[in-house]
Amino acid sequence: MKTQEFELDLTNRTYQVRISALQHVNHGSGLLLIFTDITEVKKLQRMLEKQAFYDELTQVYNRRAFFQQCSQAYVEAKGASIPFTVVLIDIDYFKNVNDTYGHAVGDQLLIHVVKVCHGELKKGELFARYGGEEFVLALKGYTLSEGEALADQLCQSVELQPLVTTQGPITATISCGVAEGTNVEDTLYQLLNKTDKELYSAKHAGRNRVHVCRE
Ligand code: GH3
Ligand code: MG
Ligand code: MG
Repeated sequence: MKTQEFELDLTNRTYQVRISALQHVNHGSGLLLIFTDITEVKKLQRMLEKQAFYDELTQVYNRRAFFQQCSQAYVEAKGASIPFTVVLIDIDYFKNVNDTYGHAVGDQLLIHVVKVCHGELKKGELFARYGGEEFVLALKGYTLSEGEALADQLCQSVELQPLVTTQGPITATISCGVAEGTNVEDTLYQLLNKTDKELYSAKHAGRNRVHVCRE
C-alpha cells in the first residue's frame, strides 16, 4: 500500500492525514495514521490567495485575476460560438472628488460604486478593478446590445444612488465603453483595446454615457 495523503476539514480546524500500511510489524496488518494540524498554514495560504487575486479596497477581483479568468472565459466562448462582450467602466471626474473631499472619501466612493454595480450584476459575472478608478466587466453569453443595456443600467444606477457622507451626498457618474469579440481572430487584448477606444470616446463626448463599438 502506498502512503495516502489528504486534507480533512473538521469544524474550525484542518488536518493533513497520512495513512500508510504497517508492513514490517504485526505481520503486515494494520495502518499508521498521522494527523497534522495545518490550520494556520491553510489560513495563511487562503490569505495570500486573497491578496493575490482580490483588490484590497473594493474586494472585487484585481487586474491579475481578471486576465486569468477572462482569458479562459473568452477562449471558451469562442470555442462554443457564444457571444462575449466586455464593458470598461471609468468614474467621471474622480480626481475632483479626491481634491474636494479628500482621499479617504474618494476611497469610500470607489467602494460605493462597486457596490452599486454589483447590485446590477448576476452571480458569476466577471467584474474586476482594472486600474485606479476603472473597472471591467466580462460578459460571457452577452451580445453587444445586451452588454450595452447592462452598461446603461449601471450608469443610471450609479447616478441615482449618491454616496452619503458626513459632508453631504456625493453623486458620481460613470462612462462606459462596450465591445463584443465578434472577430474570432481578436485576442483579448485587441478586444479590450476596442473597448478602451469607446470609453475614451464616451469621455470625449461629455461623460455619463455608454459608447459602443459597432464595426
Ligand atoms: P475622467 O472623467 O476623465 O475619468 O477624470 P478623472 O478625474 O476621473 O480621471 P483622472 O485619471 O484624471 O484621475 C483619476 C484619479 O483617481 C487620480 C488618482 O489619484 C485617483 N485614484 C486612483 N486610485 C485611487 C484610489 O485607490 N483611491 C483614491 N481615493 N483615489 C484613487
Ligand atoms: Mg475617471
Ligand atoms: Mg481613469
